[in-house]
Formats: sequence, structure tokens, C-alpha cells
Amino acid sequence: MNDAQVSDEISRMSAALAADDAQAEVFTSTQTLAIACRILAANGHGSGLAGQMTARGDDPTTTWTLPYGVGFEEAKASDYVLVDKNFDVIEGNGRPSPANRFHLHVYQERTDVMSIVHTHPINCSALSMIGEPLRAEHMDLMFFYEDAAYLPNWPGVPFGDGEGEIIAGALGDKSAILLAHHGQLCAGPTIEAATVMGVFIERAAELQLKAMAAGTIKSVEPELGHQAHGWRHDPGAMATTFRYFARQALKTGDSPLD
Ligand SMILES: [Zn+2]
Repeated sequence: MNDAQVSDEISRMSAALAADDAQAEVFTSTQTLAIACRILAANGHGSGLAGQMTARGDDPTTTWTLPYGVGFEEAKASDYVLVDKNFDVIEGNGRPSPANRFHLHVYQERTDVMSIVHTHPINCSALSMIGEPLRAEHMDLMFFYEDAAYLPNWPGVPFGDGEGEIIAGALGDKSAILLAHHGQLCAGPTIEAATVMGVFIERAAELQLKAMAAGTIKSVEPELGHQAHGWRHDPGAMATTFRYFARQALKTGDSPLD
């Protein structure tokens, strides 16, 4: 198959997946967020109460976030609270963690971003301690091919606006960022896309640590990397992957949908 045929095949698949997506079960934003929390918990993203899964509200200056004290494994749709641009709760009950405040800076800077996954999973955290940016050099990780930023210095616990500005600035127009001595952040056009990237960035860090321990990481061909990046960010492919993870998450434990 030549390059043009591969592009045609990707376009056909993309159209078919978009049609599937239109037929799929529809969850509310908070239900999707709660499912996303369970997916992240099942994929190693829980680290006590650190980490957040947020999304913009219908009013784009508002944000859905979990109150402090609710972990990913137990999150339910009804736990989510809506905060305004001052981080004051305008819907729901609970007190959001001040550490979520830096999400507001990302949402402010990036009008294309509708959802953010910020976590401290083991492999991203380990990679964040050795002064190395994330390397996406494996087919499964092309979400991040030339699309992951790196913040090489830790600005401290991100409670204040200064840390939010630093992190949002370092992210720039990328889909993800590795935060030194801290963790990772993935920013997507949908909750589904942010979640899927969250799952795969932890896998990327794990593979990178293993590859670095075994030898020297080699680069993929840029043209192929860009093509694969486009496919990985296909909205239908993202939604289909999310639904697969969601089915697993909905099989176990109590329902996140309430
Ligand atoms: Zn954090």
C-alpha cells in the first residue's frame, strides 16, 4: 500500500468511526467525567488525592471539577461541582482542591481545550525526576509525536496563579506536557480525547523508562510520525477507544453514573 492509499484508508476508517460515534450511547458531561476517573484509576493514575479530571461547562468560563477528598476510584457524576472563573462553586456541593486552579489558566489560554487530565502516575512521575522530556517513538504513542511539551523546572505546588501561568505557558499549543518533579497533563478537545491521552502518556513514560534502561531510543521517520499522529487524534478513533475503556470501567464496582 502506498502513502496515498494509506491516507485513503485512514479517511475511510475515520468516516466509519464517526458514524459509529453518532450511534453510541450518550452520557452527560459529568457522567463522562466520572467514567473517565474510573478509567484513569484502572490505569495507574490514582496517587492518593493528587490529580484532577476536569472539563469546561456549557458556559466556557466555567469548569467541572471534583471536590477535594474524592478519589478517582470512587468518583460519581453527582460528585462533580461546577466552578466559575474565580473558582467559586456555582453548582453542586463540595470544596474543590486549590491545586485545580491551574486548569483555569490552561482553559483561558487554550480555547480549543475542553477537558484536562492532570495526574501523577508512577511512570510519568519517575520520568519527571530525571530531567528528560517525553519521547514518543513507538506506534502506540503517536498521540504525542512532536506534541508533548516539557516544563524542566518545578514551580512548586500549583495553588497560585503564578504556577498556573507557568504551566499554561509551557504547554503552549501542545496536547500534553511532562512536568518536572510533578507529573503529566493532557489537554483535549473532548473529555474522551483527554482521557485516552492520559492513559497513553503513562504507557509512553513506562516504555521510555524501559527503553532508556535497555539502550538508546531511536527516532521514527518524521513523515510517518506525523501521519500516525493525525490518525491517533481522529475524533472517531478517540471516542471508540474511550468507549472500550469505559466498558471495562463500567463492569467493575459501583456505577460512576449516579
Ligand atoms: Zn499535580
